[in-house]
Formats: sequence, structure tokens, C-alpha cells
Amino acid sequence: MTSVETALSKLPADIVVRDQDIVSKYTTDFRHLYAGRSMAVLRPRTVAEVQLAVRTLAAHGVPVVPQGGNTSYCTAATPNRDGSEIVISLERLNKVRELDIGNLSMTVDAGCVLSDLQDAALDNDLMLPLSLGSEQSCQIGGNLSTNAGGIAVVKHGMARELVLGLEVVLPDGSLFSDLNPLRKNNSGYDMKQLFIGGEGTLGIITGASLKLVRKPRAVVTAFLAIREISVLSTLLDRAQRFTGDAVTSFEYMSNSSLDLLLSKRPNLRRPLEEASDHYVLLEAATSSHLLDLRGAAEILLEEAMSDGLVIDGAVAANEEHRSHFWHLRENIPEGEVLNGGSVKHDVSVRTSRLAAFIVDASDIVRSCCSEAILSVYGHVGDGNVHFNVVPPHTAQTHEFKEHFERTVSPLIYNLAAQMGGSFSAEYGIGRSKLGLLSEYGDPGKIALMRKLKTALDPNGIMNPGKVIPVA
Ligand SMILES: Cc1cc2nc3c(=O)[nH]c(=O)nc-3n(C[C@H](O)[C@H](O)[C@H](O)COP(=O)(O)OP(=O)(O)OC[C@H]3O[C@@H](n4cnc5c(N)ncnc54)[C@H](O)[C@@H]3O)c2cc1C
Repeated sequence: MTSVETALSKLPADIVVRDQDIVSKYTTDFRHLYAGRSMAVLRPRTVAEVQLAVRTLAAHGVPVVPQGGNTSYCTAATPNRDGSEIVISLERLNKVRELDIGNLSMTVDAGCVLSDLQDAALDNDLMLPLSLGSEQSCQIGGNLSTNAGGIAVVKHGMARELVLGLEVVLPDGSLFSDLNPLRKNNSGYDMKQLFIGGEGTLGIITGASLKLVRKPRAVVTAFLAIREISVLSTLLDRAQRFTGDAVTSFEYMSNSSLDLLLSKRPNLRRPLEEASDHYVLLEAATSSHLLDLRGAAEILLEEAMSDGLVIDGAVAANEEHRSHFWHLRENIPEGEVLNGGSVKHDVSVRTSRLAAFIVDASDIVRSCCSEAILSVYGHVGDGNVHFNVVPPHTAQTHEFKEHFERTVSPLIYNLAAQMGGSFSAEYGIGRSKLGLLSEYGDPGKIALMRKLKTALDPNGIMNPGKVIPVA
């Protein structure tokens, strides 16, 4: 028997899935960019079973790959190709353990699907202010392990900022448990921060205590055609002033991104009559029933149009309008997929430099590859842009992407670095951005990451080959 087989034989049979038709769903990433192999997937039902699985595999030197919803954009949750690693899926750890309305907090299992947690909070007149395109399938453990961003960062911050406590199974199977949902707790090192954004390389998150906020009583959503990209930061600043810092989302869409979607979805329509190269989806919310957010948004639109910042705009009159605006924004990635997919650059710079970044990066693409289709959109309220490039209709998709990534992407990342930005705003490092971390990461930080990894996981069994570049 191999060591993997020996380890598996010591685990309860009903948490071990060996059927390769099922296993392959866990070993391939959702974009089908990477197909790994694994002899089995483990689906523990309790924290004790996660501990047992990790302890048993560790004792036989078998590496593990923690997996949530498997929606990673950087192949972080898939095992390697030699079949030596075992996937541990958290999907059966999916209970809300406690919801404390008075404390504005919930304590949950790591395998809860994000949208289920949003619903559980709403049922109690509260809100979990984390929202991303994959929310119907990603899990809170995956969100915390990737420190996910999404569409509400401008108001509520990245996933890290919503965490009050964490429970983690460490690489030797022991438990780190710090789930107390306290707002103030200065009692030694804040250990939970190590695991948030750790992409499963330091331990398996099994539970979390999360901050909630009051459910909004008023939400106002506007779709704006802006004159030019340079008005973005002025418009955001004005929107914050007019609404009393109530802006929850400030999303940018280039016209070419919208075109890609509408060309394949003719039933969808543009919300505005005037055409522009640039659009903003703005949303603000308040839990107060006394504030007139709608009035503020209408004055903002009126003044921004008379100042020439905005060419045309519409404030959603009802929920149907609002969901139409959001449907367009949320389906832009699908528009890219329907047009052959894209080369993605998940870049951030400070908000004051974002417009300049988009202009300069677009010039780079046009000068290197004039026929490429730019699809630029993203959470620009927090400085994050998805600067994506779609192959021209005439190109061989695979060859184009490969050539582009080799020759033009480095110029885009260099530009982001020169502007003090990041090559990975919200998706993380995983397997596919190791080279970028080696190139653009601070050597001192990478050395410290290696020391931490060795201290917590001396045998290197937790999600090997991810996040930490080979020395
Ligand atoms: C349509 C779409 C839209 C998206 N939009 C956004 C967006 O706006 N913002 C954003 O940040 N991301 C976005 N993503 C990327 C992705 O959804 C997020 O990274 C998400 O947080 C991953 O969650 P998951 O449960 O799918 O994790 P997985 O993909 O399963 O895993 C991701 C990483 O976390 C580790 N991991 C998972 N669960 C655990 C656990 N319990 N303990 C320890 N490690 C664990 C894995 O090993 C892996 O390294 C999007 C993806 C899609 C497909």
C-alpha cells in the first residue's frame, strides 16, 4: 500500500470519496485552466473529523489541499497533477452556529455558502456586507482564506475587516480556536490575521465569527455615462460628500466591456440613451429612515451633468431598474467568456492614480497589439480595476492569450508597479501568480512568509506549491 492509501484506510469510509467522476470536479478549477489529480476527496462533517483527517494525512506525509467553493481565479484550490495530494472539501461544515443580533455578529462553519449567510443575516434584519460575483457557490472559509474583495469594499473593506474571530485546524491536526466575537480584545498577537489571505497554506479554517451591519432602509442606485475616465475620482469624492459617505459600491464599466456582453445577449438593453466610452454604477445605502439618499443622488446627478462630469444618467426608480443595472455589471465576465475569454490583470493602484493607470495601460495595449479588444471594468471605488484583454475575433484564442501574457502583460504589471500598485488586488496568488510575486513582491516579506510557513507547517503539507515562491 502507498502512504496515501494507508492514510485513507484509517479514515471513516463515509467521509472518503474515491469515485473519480466525482473527484475530478474537485481537482479541476472552474475555468478549466488546470486539471490536477487526487486519489480521493475528503468531505468531513465536523471540526473533529477535519482534525482527524489532517492528523492522519500528516502522519503519513500526505499533503492536503483545502477547498471551499473552488471558484479561485488563480488555481489556488486544486491539487497538483501527480496525484499525491488529497483535497479536503469543507462543504459539509455548513451550519450557522450562532447569530447574536445585539452584538451584530454571526459565528458560522467555514463551509457555509456566502449567499446563504447573506440570507441568514437578512432574515434577522441585518446584513453581511460581503458580496462578489461567485457568492452563490463560494464559501466563507474560501472568502477569508483569499481575503476576498467584491463590490462593497468602498464602504465595508475587504473580508479581513469583517472578521472578529477564527477557528483553524493547524497542519499537525491541533486546533487554534479564537471565535469570541469581541470588538475589543488586545490579548497578545492577533493570530487569526495569519490565516486570512493565507490561501490554505497555514491551516484549514473551520469556523469564523463575522461582523454584521444593520440592514439598509434606503438604497439608491444610479447608472452614469461619464464624460471621460479622468472624472472618476472627482465623481466618487462628490458622491461621498453628497451622501454623507454612504457610497457602498462604485463600479466602472468600459463601453467595450458592455459591447462584448450585449453582442451576445441581444435581449439585454443599455439603460441610457446617450452613449459614452465609460460608465459608472453607483450605489449608496443607509440604515436610517430619516435620510433622503434619493434626493442626494438626484442633486448629485443634476450638478454632475451641469458641470459636464456626467453626460447622461439614471437613478433606479424601482427594484427592477436596480437589478437591470446590476445584471449588466455582474455579467461582464460572462460577456468575455462568450467572446473567447480574456487575459486578466487584477490590478490596484491608489484611487487618485486609477484613471491615469487605465489611460496608460490602454495605450500600451494599443501600441503593442492594436487589434486586441480591451475589457476594462471593476471596483474602482477602492482602486481595483480588472484590466482584461479579449482576443480579436480573427485570432486563434489560445495562441493570442499565450503570446499576450508573455509579451504585453509584463508591461502592464510594470506600469502598475511604477505607480505603486499591486499585481493582485483581490484574487490572491495561488499557483498562477507565484512568478509575479517573485518579481514584484518585497524580498523581505517573502523571506518572512517562508519563515512563518516553516514554523507552522515544517513538513510542508498544507496546500504546497501555492502562495510561497520556491526559494
Ligand atoms: C464569477 C466570479 C466572480 C468573482 N468575483 C470576485 C470578486 O469580486 N472579488 C474577489 O475577491 N474574488 C472574486 N472571485 C474569486 C473567488 O470567488 C474568490 O477568491 C472566493 O473568495 C473564493 O472562495 P471559494 O470558497 O470558492 O474558495 P476556493 O476557490 O475553494 O479556494 C480559494 C483558496 O482558499 C483556500 N481555502 C478554501 N477554503 C478554505 C478553508 N476553509 N480553510 C483554508 N483554506 C481554504 C483554498 O485552498 C484556496 O487556496 C470571483 C470568482 C468568480 C468565479
